[in-house]
Amino acid sequence: MLEVESVDKAYGRGDNEVVALSGVSLTVGDGEFAALVGPSGCGKTTLLNLIAGLDDVDAGRILVDGASAPAEERLKRFGYMPQQDMLFPWRTVLANVSLGLEVQGMNRADARARAAEMFPQFGLGGFEHRRPHELSGGMRQRASFLRTYLLGRPFLLLDEPFGALDAITRGQLQAWLAETWNRIGGSALLVTHDPHEAVALSDRVYVMSPRPGRITNVLEVDLPRPRTVRAAETEAAHRLIDVLRHETESVGVDS
Ligand code: ADP
Ligand code: MG
Repeated sequence: MLEVESVDKAYGRGDNEVVALSGVSLTVGDGEFAALVGPSGCGKTTLLNLIAGLDDVDAGRILVDGASAPAEERLKRFGYMPQQDMLFPWRTVLANVSLGLEVQGMNRADARARAAEMFPQFGLGGFEHRRPHELSGGMRQRASFLRTYLLGRPFLLLDEPFGALDAITRGQLQAWLAETWNRIGGSALLVTHDPHEAVALSDRVYVMSPRPGRITNVLEVDLPRPRTVRAAETEAAHRLIDVLRHETESVGVDS
């Protein structure tokens, strides 16, 4: 379980100070999928970086399973999929995907064998020895997700993972993510611009205001589990999506 308590974060000093987050609190329980929506520049990536342990909070606390967890510990707890896919262009897809395991200390041959086993399940079979530029946008996102998945962290932080994809690919990947993550029983915090995506995938949606980022509303998504993207086509879901659209329009989310 993740608890973010009254977190503040600013960059720079004096006249150059940018207050990115102010008093941000949120909770994601075990096996829960939460979404965070908010306008560009409101501090969503800042918040994920803090949770992942890549940066320190100025004030407030981040707790894991009820205990205050220092940044070094959080680095090992969360699977972080950053906004950019971060695949190295000169490495093969297999070498990219297995890199995290090698960094964790697994020898190269074992890391590649472990990664290669998962390629078919991630829709990447046959592309092991290609370079990232030879893959479609959706395949690159799946490769990035596979690299994160292989680290074996049951809690995912996803920063607008589908933002750069066309609508059809996005829908397919959303369905695939919902199915994969439901099956694993993992937890996730997903940053998204898309109210439909937030309702389709998550149990709870946190709405954030423009800078300084604050949580302005929390919407419980009480739709049946296991959640699929089709769950967002029901009438109850449409009512929630409308509420969320209204909510995000009032804080200025560009969708
Ligand atoms: P979002 O992901 O919601 O678009 P970010 O978390 O990237 O927003 O940024 C929040 C604010 O903090 C922005 O105004 C951004 O310019 C600023 N910011 C982010 N990272 C840094 C940094 N390393 N140094 C200075 N300012 C930063
Ligand atoms: Mg961002």
